[in-house]
Amino acid sequence: QNGCVAFIGLGTMGREMAINLLAGGFSVRGYDVDAAAVASLAERGVVACASPAEAARDADIAITMLPDTPHVEAVVYGENGLLGSPPDGRLVVDMSTISPVAVRRMHADLAKNGVALIDAPVSGGPVGAKNAALSIMAGGDAEAFARAEPFFRAMGTTITHVGASGAGQAVKLCNQLVCAINLQAICEALALGRASGVDLDQLRTVLLGGSASSWMLDRLGPAMIAGDASAGFRIDLMLKDLRLVQEQAQALAVPLPGTALVTSQYVEAKAHGEGANGNQALFRVYDRMSNR
Ligand code: NAD
Repeated sequence: QNGCVAFIGLGTMGREMAINLLAGGFSVRGYDVDAAAVASLAERGVVACASPAEAARDADIAITMLPDTPHVEAVVYGENGLLGSPPDGRLVVDMSTISPVAVRRMHADLAKNGVALIDAPVSGGPVGAKNAALSIMAGGDAEAFARAEPFFRAMGTTITHVGASGAGQAVKLCNQLVCAINLQAICEALALGRASGVDLDQLRTVLLGGSASSWMLDRLGPAMIAGDASAGFRIDLMLKDLRLVQEQAQALAVPLPGTALVTSQYVEAKAHGEGANGNQALFRVYDRMSNR
């Protein structure tokens, strides 16, 4: 046994990350408010737990992979939470994308209890999670980062300590605004290409071979062209990330006009019932604008 992980939040990303920790020789104690998510992993060898506190018992580290700031705060501050019942190793790592301000507050509150917090959001999507190929950007104390690193190695390939508490989230927010604006650019190219009568699969292949190539075009392009909006990284989650980007930008007085525009398009997508669809559904905003 390499060590024991309490894994809290076994959704799209967390499920794959927990499986990779098992494959890496770690034991995993799992908790999720969705009992079915825990039960399906129990078959794979995860010890099913009924609260964050129970998961943290005997664990070296507690990892959270939850939707948004309030969920992480509930797991830290709530009844049977990690503040009152930290893991034996007194190390908490949040890998969700949440507010950097909230991260620094939790870092300070946990530190008063002798518990270290690392913010370590990820990039690479569900496929990166499944292939243990995530890019992990970590903020927090160097000693705590060093203790978390062997666990990161089981889930990712690019693992970078980017600074003090909250810095991981700050870098992730930069990552997300590039993803959103890049996706918008791809939508515009596909809309223009379609109206021009060019073959969209061929257009994608050509762009991938030149300076317009991108991860988004590679991974989401086929679903956008096929009109398949299902699954993947949800519109709702990107809208949450864009809200976090704008909060950070306003707090620091940084103008981000491109982010403001694409955020409106995500709001439009959500208003049309696309919130649970994958990010490729941003193209449907363009379908609606051109009445396609
Ligand atoms: P998800 O909604 O699929 O999974 C979240 C899980 O957390 C769910 O199973 C839910 O039941 C559980 N949960 C919610 N509240 C809880 C609580 N209080 N206690 C315990 N469990 C709780 O989301 P996801 O796609 O796995 O994303 C998780 C985080 O990772 C988000 O912050 C997201 O922005 C980020 N992220 C997602 C992707 C992606 O492509 N899906 C990529 C990079 C980062």
